[in-house]
Amino acid sequence: MTELDLIVDLHCTMQRQGPGSTSDTLRALGFMSEYLPKNLSIADIGCGSGGQTITLARHIDGHITAVDLFPGFLEELESRSTKQGLSEKITTVKASMDSLPFSDASYDLIWSEGAIYNIGFENGIRLWRPFIKDGGYLAVSEITWITNTRPKEIEDFWTGAYSGIDTAANKIIQLERNGFSLAGYFHLSPSSWLKEYYTPLQDALKPFLAKHNFSELATKVAREHNEEIELYRRYQEYYSYGFYVARKSGFVGAVV
Ligand code: SAH
Repeated sequence: MTELDLIVDLHCTMQRQGPGSTSDTLRALGFMSEYLPKNLSIADIGCGSGGQTITLARHIDGHITAVDLFPGFLEELESRSTKQGLSEKITTVKASMDSLPFSDASYDLIWSEGAIYNIGFENGIRLWRPFIKDGGYLAVSEITWITNTRPKEIEDFWTGAYSGIDTAANKIIQLERNGFSLAGYFHLSPSSWLKEYYTPLQDALKPFLAKHNFSELATKVAREHNEEIELYRRYQEYYSYGFYVARKSGFVGAVV
């Protein structure tokens, strides 16, 4: 097994693969409640095992195309949606988020929690914008600095892991210069990190290590997860996931 296989194996059966919660998903959906027509078409990109896909399916009138690169996550989502009687509202698609098999203006709403960092926030919103109908919405969560300055240790860790990490003010500028206008923003609370994501993940590490016979690679994967969790416990006042909800606007690339 490669390191990536091990990471997918560790995360596959978890309820979610990143910070977030049912109430965060619904809060973001609330920013567009006046717009939401019946028979919505939604794409959920980087859906993972579908924590937010299931929540959306329960609360909207319409259909969700759930996209992920890894079949293991999609199989897990399919089994969950079948068990919950939601399979008619969800279609899974294996594709990469930077080459989506979508037609222009085919979705009322593009959703993506904790996943756009894989191709970079600004690159992602630019690539996905054409798939949204005029006046449709984008809802994306993305790691975000929540103070203007921070200790060097945490700055170095996150800029090393994801050079696109930035403040909400700068992410909003990126949205605006790429043809979106902000409809709402909030950042996730510590319980959306710890109770919903890191605590169950940490509980899964022991059985994960046993399953893989404490191999060198599995031990490395577990250690890196523990380090990330430890850093969050220490530095949580400096960063979170920002949830950005934005409406597709008419013009792109105004010269400033
Ligand atoms: N939205 C889920 C999963 C977030 S983790 C949640 O919040 O729980 C990020 C997800 O992006 C993973 O499921 C991962 O498999 C997926 N992913 C990574 N690179 C991708 C790519 N290039 N295209 C599509 N999905 C990708």
